[in-house]
Amino acid sequence: MAMPLRLSLRMGGYLLKQKLGRHEKFPLLVELEPLFACNLKCAGCGKIQQPHDVLKQRMPVEQAMAAIEECGAPMVSIAGGEPLMHPQIDELVRQLIARKKYVFLCTNALLMPKKIEKFTPSRYFAWVVHIDGLRDRHDESVCKEGVFDEAVAAIKMAKERGFKVNTNTTFFNTDTPQTVIDVMNYLNDDLGIDQMQISPAYAYEKAPDQEHFLGVTETRELFRKAFEGNRKRWRLNHSPLFLDFLEGKKDFACTAWGIPSYSLLGWQRPCYLMADGYTKTYKELIETTDWDSYGRGKDPRCANCMAHCGYEPSAVLATMGSLKESIRAARGS
Ligand code: SF4
Ligand code: SF4
Repeated sequence: MAMPLRLSLRMGGYLLKQKLGRHEKFPLLVELEPLFACNLKCAGCGKIQQPHDVLKQRMPVEQAMAAIEECGAPMVSIAGGEPLMHPQIDELVRQLIARKKYVFLCTNALLMPKKIEKFTPSRYFAWVVHIDGLRDRHDESVCKEGVFDEAVAAIKMAKERGFKVNTNTTFFNTDTPQTVIDVMNYLNDDLGIDQMQISPAYAYEKAPDQEHFLGVTETRELFRKAFEGNRKRWRLNHSPLFLDFLEGKKDFACTAWGIPSYSLLGWQRPCYLMADGYTKTYKELIETTDWDSYGRGKDPRCANCMAHCGYEPSAVLATMGSLKESIRAARGS
């Protein structure tokens, strides 16, 4: 991934250790979901459709830490639901940082003004604010007016306080190359976001809005046109090979075991986006999942998936396996 040098070196060391240990499947980053409840109701969201008794639950910090320790991933992305609604979220972040995990706290930003005092800037910590487009587009995506302005104010506040602030933007088939360019230019140039993550929306079976997800051909065309003359300029939080993949210049097999998801329900099989059951441990997830049966061309539910949780690990592994690609990725750092 085009990541800060310190994190790149840490990841390089981690990958080398896996290679020397002949570990075929290992986690790069865990998607940790310590709750499913949220203070928004976005139309494309597959998480807030959980039953009421699940939405009420909050994962104890000890349980989350035990899962992260067991799998050994160097990076943790805390999502949900809205993680800032978890009463011990600051304690969870502190304990992860104390173990030198790189922590990305994903949020819609609405609670940041109220909760930011509980957090301290650290090279191991970044906010990841959900921004799906400029004002009208974002507010439409989250089904509530005024959220874009609140998110932008929260980003500025966090940056003023010395935090690293990243963003995560999901694109739908209502987007055009120009809407992609407009929002990325705004985040990159106007807001000075540290690193930006992009994703074509995945068609969650449970999402209320099923009409606006992108197909593979549409995704490739959208990013190819949007990237023209811009890709090198934008501080994108992805490896060059994953960006090639989004543009259709490369293709990979899905390696969803590299970015596994742990939630209130356990380790989710096979990935953050699909739920074919849960296991108690990462080891069990690895050993009891038929990984070869997932991915585009194998499972119809994967047909339109180009999500980073399935294909960024593939891109990172391909980068590690090639000197030329490693140099290219290092240049991005
Ligand atoms: S902010 Fe995130 S978790 Fe909350 S409803 Fe929207 S997509 Fe779902
Ligand atoms: S292609 Fe991989 S990441 Fe995407 S939905 Fe299928 S298993 Fe999950």
